[in-house]
Amino acid sequence: MNQYKLLTPGPLTTTETVKQEMLVDHCTWDDDYKKITQTIRRTLLELGQVTEPQYTAVLMQGSGTFGVESVLTSVVGRNDKVLIAANGAYGLRMAEICRHAGVDFVLYEQENFKIPEADKVAAILASDPAVTHVAMVHGETTSGILNDVQAVGQVVKQAGKTFIVDAMSTFGGVEIPVGDWGIDFLISSANKCIQGVPGFSFVLANREKLIASAGCARSLSLDLYDQWKTMETDGKWRFTSPTHVVLAFARALEELKAEGGIPARHARYANNQKRLAEKLSALGFTPYLDPAVQGPIITSFGYPKGADFTFRQMYDYIKARGYVLYPGKVMEADTFRVGNIGEIYPADIEALATILETFLKEVAAA
Ligand SMILES: *Cc1c(COP(=O)(O)O)cnc(C)c1O
Repeated sequence: MNQYKLLTPGPLTTTETVKQEMLVDHCTWDDDYKKITQTIRRTLLELGQVTEPQYTAVLMQGSGTFGVESVLTSVVGRNDKVLIAANGAYGLRMAEICRHAGVDFVLYEQENFKIPEADKVAAILASDPAVTHVAMVHGETTSGILNDVQAVGQVVKQAGKTFIVDAMSTFGGVEIPVGDWGIDFLISSANKCIQGVPGFSFVLANREKLIASAGCARSLSLDLYDQWKTMETDGKWRFTSPTHVVLAFARALEELKAEGGIPARHARYANNQKRLAEKLSALGFTPYLDPAVQGPIITSFGYPKGADFTFRQMYDYIKARGYVLYPGKVMEADTFRVGNIGEIYPADIEALATILETFLKEVAAA
């Protein structure tokens, strides 16, 4: 089998022990299985520093986007309007979801290298009283920027609106006190910082607001309230659940705890990111973001001056030596991206830097 480590923002490199959990075929109707689902839901609330009954957790089949679409199309009602603060592709995807489903929205678009400003959100809320919800991304994986959810949450709460946060690429790797930051609906997925495999997303929800959304969903399978109602009874998923993924995720949560929880995982990721930026900068690659807004998950780099190779050439060279990278995604610049989440340690960053150094020498000599 082709073996390499993923320096991508998820799916990511998981432990052998997480992968081994998937060797069991579990019955979805079985009590043991339902208990696993309930334990996962409880643990996710703990990680978000919230408790029942103010908050509740819902798991939703599909990739992360299914979770975002579930929330936007289930909790923003037909007479509501959502303000989307976007500074990258995932923020813009929220607008696309709304366009498709006929959810009324207004877009506040910020440049990819800048964070959406809380003052600007406050000003839009003041000038457009029709807005009932505000949605934004925490870690914009497009560039690697870490947005200020806490500051925006404050103005959203002051205005008495509902706050939706796509924390897909940060939850589990960055501390997010969901209640303190005024988040009503937080979405993340199995295959990012919790280090599970792809197959479902999850939502930490303000229980009262979730209950108020009953009957509001525009989709059957993505109906967040219905999904919750079924799951809340005894842990049974509404439709077939990704059993192997669920077992792997339960194990991944235990391993997160064993590592020392979110603070320890955050420290490992932040250290990886710092080394990565230092090492690649020394080779002539240029980090796209100002360190003040750079997040600890993924870094966008520009190519060294006079670089005479394609991303594809560099990608293939590195892949043959045990690692894979991501192409760039920001609109304003020619970049590529290196993720440092998953089972990635300083030795991997050193190894990547060494491979890149040799690659640069070889292309220069060619
Ligand atoms: C990964 C990710 C998503 C979800 O992407 P899927 O491909 O649907 O899993 C959404 N938002 C952000 C910020 C992400 O990093």
